[in-house]
Amino acid sequence: MAGTESVQERLDHFVDAITDSMKVKVASIYLKRPGGDLELSATRGLKKSAVHKTLMKRGEGLVGHVSQTARPLNLADAPAHPLFSYRPETGEEKFSSFLGVPVLRGGRTLGVLVVQSEQARNFNEDEVEDLLTVAMVLAEIIVDDERVGGKKAALKGITLNPTRPETFQGKAFADGLVSGVAHLHVPPVPPSDLLAENIATEEIRLEEAVTKLRASVDAMVRGEAATLSRASKEIYETYRMFAYDRKWVKRLREAVHSGLTSEAAVERVRNEHRARLMKSRDPYLRARLHDLEDLANRLLRILSGESVGPGNREISDDAVIFARDLGPAELLDYDRSKIIGIVLEEGSMSSHTAIICRAIGVPLIGRAEGVLDHVETGDPILLDGETGEVHIRPVESRLAGFQLRMSIRGEMFKAYEAIKQKPATTKDGRRISLLLNAGLVVDLPQIEQSGADGIGLFRTEFQFMISEYMPRLNEQTDLYRQALNACGDRPVTFRTLDLGGDKILPYMDPVPEENPAIGWRAIRIGLDRPGLLRYQLRALIAAAADRHLRVMFPMVTTVDEFITARALFDKEVQRASNLGQPLPNKIEVGVMMETPSLAWSVRAICDHADFVSVGANDLMQFFFAADRDNVRVSDRFDPLHPASLSILRFIAEGCHDSDVPVSICGEIAGRPVEAITLVALGFDALSMPVTGIGPVKSALLALDSAKLKDVITPLITIDSRVESVREHVRQFCMQEGIPI
Ligand code: PEP
Ligand code: MG
Repeated sequence: MAGTESVQERLDHFVDAITDSMKVKVASIYLKRPGGDLELSATRGLKKSAVHKTLMKRGEGLVGHVSQTARPLNLADAPAHPLFSYRPETGEEKFSSFLGVPVLRGGRTLGVLVVQSEQARNFNEDEVEDLLTVAMVLAEIIVDDERVGGKKAALKGITLNPTRPETFQGKAFADGLVSGVAHLHVPPVPPSDLLAENIATEEIRLEEAVTKLRASVDAMVRGEAATLSRASKEIYETYRMFAYDRKWVKRLREAVHSGLTSEAAVERVRNEHRARLMKSRDPYLRARLHDLEDLANRLLRILSGESVGPGNREISDDAVIFARDLGPAELLDYDRSKIIGIVLEEGSMSSHTAIICRAIGVPLIGRAEGVLDHVETGDPILLDGETGEVHIRPVESRLAGFQLRMSIRGEMFKAYEAIKQKPATTKDGRRISLLLNAGLVVDLPQIEQSGADGIGLFRTEFQFMISEYMPRLNEQTDLYRQALNACGDRPVTFRTLDLGGDKILPYMDPVPEENPAIGWRAIRIGLDRPGLLRYQLRALIAAAADRHLRVMFPMVTTVDEFITARALFDKEVQRASNLGQPLPNKIEVGVMMETPSLAWSVRAICDHADFVSVGANDLMQFFFAADRDNVRVSDRFDPLHPASLSILRFIAEGCHDSDVPVSICGEIAGRPVEAITLVALGFDALSMPVTGIGPVKSALLALDSAKLKDVITPLITIDSRVESVREHVRQFCMQEGIPI
């Protein structure tokens, strides 16, 4: 491979060598072009005339799939696979079996290497490993071409060193604006030696590595990051659980005992886990997968002689880490004081890394698909944790605008800080309660930091989602007590578990559903399987001994459902009382108003509920029939449409007439324009993400709500032709000098 021929010639020899040694009919190399298309760049076995002609679009066909997932694909009957894309010019239809592996270098996918044969069979594990190793060599050849400037005509157009400014849209999982320098996180390379020379020596190697791994994880649990908050401590404790997991270590030992090297054993066990967990579409299960990958990577690093532990990786002072995914342990191997942001191709809101990032104040953007193909270590980066955008190699003008926003953000934070202790009273004298949406221990310091009036929505399911097992009664009680303690005299409204649908727990049997959002979820599960709900209510009652307890039920659709749920609660109070346990000194049981059917029963529900909290995220999704998690439709309809405002006003008025306190939670309560409109409609309590408190309060302090009501009331009629009152509210704010 180190010949002096042109890169094209080397690639041609490469495919020849593979077909001969692997005894396959076809070997082909697809290389990635700018933009992500894959070009057939060399082949033996397919028609040569297709070389540099056949292009697979990003994600297209089996080749595109291998490139996107960066994982091998091994099929006995490729043409039968749903992703198979038929290309007549290649003549590949007669080949049944297919093995494709990604060509990876430095976390980037450079292309895909494929072997095919006529006989329908799966390639065995050794063949997969061999091809992965070969792909590593191939990566070097390709990069070599890059180093010499890609001057060999045949590979022209396949630029591997991008220089253009580019912007990627991802999802903001932790808020913040930063400007820094890219650092590509390089996962350890797959093992090259598969078979151990001496099994006994290898067994000792593995034992030593496992001991080191455990020591490093123990150090992590004791370390600074783990003490940041209880939640982060719990996360690292979970790590320790994995590291000491007997089954995991047993599988590793068995693999080594069968003759593999320790590295190959780690890979094999990792692949088994991957295969199992990848089948799940559930993000929480996948997050567990990443924890295990994280640990496997750490073990590989130890085996290769690298030292692991806090701050062991070299990075620049203002590093934005780019990775496919990053476990919290891998994160800690970097010096935390140097990391200013993280960008991932995968990740989820509830992944452990996202939780840690929110706790340590490092902005994180996830789901930035394909970003790794376009960034190099050292590239200047602007990370916008407000919009979810990542700007790579930004132009000067963008940089200037971004820095301005960063400084305005700084100023605004100062302004919010100044009004933190002020009550949110409108100019016409209405005292509005500004409450937080929370769910984990990491959120609790935000009460003090933001000056919120309490917690309006405590999403109890979060604790269940980040746990490896069903949280025990005392763990639930403990969390609820901490939330109450953090709030002191300020109220906390606990929402009972809103599980089900797509929020499946790792330890629950998934129930596949066509429409999870309107499926078996929340109170519906609670009523069908009351054990779990009663257990939780028991924990809440115990946590609120001698204190004020506010509990509400999610996704209630009919008044009867609420009555049944409340009866379960009463039973638990009775039980605690029979056992002589101390009871809460005040109890309020409320309902979340999230379904249109309940909205139309507002007077009836007010006869039974002590308070109402409008879950606007769900209410709007059902009202507009637009999935809140589907980006194509989630922003299609404006919640400030007269139709939705009239249902919100109907609820507020219904509650007021019945003297039942009503609040609204969900994202819209935290946006200034929406928030002041809600106040004008009659809402006196808004519960929101922490980032909303400052901006909403500063708008409210300048608002005359009666005046705004006069502006919008004529627009909210049954025959209104206005699409949204947003512009009218904006105009009003301009005239009145309300900061929005
Ligand atoms: C809502 O639906 O508005 C709400 C606050 O609950 P969640 O977002 O947890 O469904
Ligand atoms: Mg909801």
